[in-house]
Amino acid sequence: MSNGILMVISGPAGSGKGTAVKLLRERIPELALSVSATTRAPRPGEEDGVHYYFISREEFERRIAAGEILEYTEYCDNLYGTPAEAVRRVLESGKDMVLEIEVDGASQIKKKFPDAVTVMLIPPDGETLEARLRGRGTETDEVIEWRMARAREEIALSKDYDYIAVSYDGRADECAADLQAILKSEHYRQSRMTSVTDAFFEN
Ligand code: 5GP
Repeated sequence: MSNGILMVISGPAGSGKGTAVKLLRERIPELALSVSATTRAPRPGEEDGVHYYFISREEFERRIAAGEILEYTEYCDNLYGTPAEAVRRVLESGKDMVLEIEVDGASQIKKKFPDAVTVMLIPPDGETLEARLRGRGTETDEVIEWRMARAREEIALSKDYDYIAVSYDGRADECAADLQAILKSEHYRQSRMTSVTDAFFEN
């Protein structure tokens, strides 16, 4: 059996990637989602082991040293990383897995797994992104400006991604359908179909 596909989805805050990934998994229930480890505190409603593994910085550093973290980065003063064992286990079982991680982690994954499929999710334009960031509520103009600048830096790195998907307002399910189409096409990539074609030349 061939290994599953590792799909990496990145996107700036306000790109709607959390919703898109949730809808994608509703479309493909067997698609596994990597649960990251983080040193940040849980937000209301977040559960340990479901949204993240919430661990201390000391424990995070121990896991890095023990080789238990596949990629990690520091983002807004907190560490975030992908537990290695779950990824290995899922891919070896032939199932696909999605990682929702930021740009630095995505480039580490692409180096370790050149076959990983990377997708950058972006809002349709700057005005839409700004409206979404403001819609979140109480942020000051300074914070919004910082987030817009950070988003532009992240979108600039989209050139290193395999695919770009666009999250239009009110069309989240269409966006999830696009992600599903990308994953489906990747299954038919020539290099992943050799077990079928090679079978014609056995014996
Ligand atoms: P949040 O604190 O809003 O949940 O996540 C902040 C950022 O960290 C998001 O861009 C999210 O995609 C990213 N992130 C979450 N888990 C990981 C991870 O395991 N590795 C990396 N590199 N980024 C992560």
